[in-house]
Amino acid sequence: MAQRGAATTTAGAAPDLVIERRAPGKPHAGKVLAVIQPHSDDVPLFSAGTVLKLIDEGYTGYLIRVTNDDMAGPGTVGDTVLANEKDNFAVARALGLKKVFDLNYSNHQMDNESRLEIRSRLIFLFRLLKVDTITCYDPWGHYEENPDHYVTAQCVEAACWMSAGSKDYPEHFEAGLKPHAVLEKYYFARGPQLVNRIVDISDFMDRKVDVNIVNKAQGPAGENGARLRARLAAERKRLPLLGSDDDTANRQYIKHLVLERDAELGKQHGLAFAEPFHYIGPPKDKVGEYISRNAVPL
Ligand SMILES: [Zn+2]
Repeated sequence: MAQRGAATTTAGAAPDLVIERRAPGKPHAGKVLAVIQPHSDDVPLFSAGTVLKLIDEGYTGYLIRVTNDDMAGPGTVGDTVLANEKDNFAVARALGLKKVFDLNYSNHQMDNESRLEIRSRLIFLFRLLKVDTITCYDPWGHYEENPDHYVTAQCVEAACWMSAGSKDYPEHFEAGLKPHAVLEKYYFARGPQLVNRIVDISDFMDRKVDVNIVNKAQGPAGENGARLRARLAAERKRLPLLGSDDDTANRQYIKHLVLERDAELGKQHGLAFAEPFHYIGPPKDKVGEYISRNAVPL
């Protein structure tokens, strides 16, 4: 679950801060995005606006959920697993992603799962899907209390560079896969992190709300707005913000209370709504650049 961070994330800005705005056309056509989350509500809260933007700009996207979410949701443990599985598929549809991969590790237990196995499964998927870009928790975010978040992030970070190796897991190559580097990373955090990219999600905020509404089993969003409206009505009170029907209550509650930090961050940068990241891009080709500047005919 990621409730805590919805309102408490603070960010230290790096000196090379970049504002990433919506790009016209489909500049990312042909590229592949892996959206990786331990739990069904992580990406909806922290990077759904950016995912929607990148898909709109041409990426093909896949959702990888790492746990089975069996510790956060309604009813029995079995009910919880099923409810979150359904939510996660709905999240993928709302984000416009092509397919879901569920790795099904035990919720809240990932610090005792084999990181080697998780990493090798991610490397397989990165090579199979030819992933260019990922979004996930920041492997170096501070004060993260959920082991599923930091174990997933650290395995993702290692898998991104190792999937480019020509000697790691040679059986993959016999099966027809090729080494494949993941060159762009959008890391989010619910605690302090080194922020060097602010993504303008203003055009996608209403769809980000749509993504969060389908997280009904766990997390701060889902149908909590309607529940609050009903509770207040029983106490003979009402909040004008929540309107006069359940759908309006859910949408307004998510947009203005659960995702309040998107508006706060946007305001700091002259945008309506924004998401913060530690972004890592492709390494500079220093030798190539030196050659193009200095090479002379023989
Ligand atoms: Zn989580």
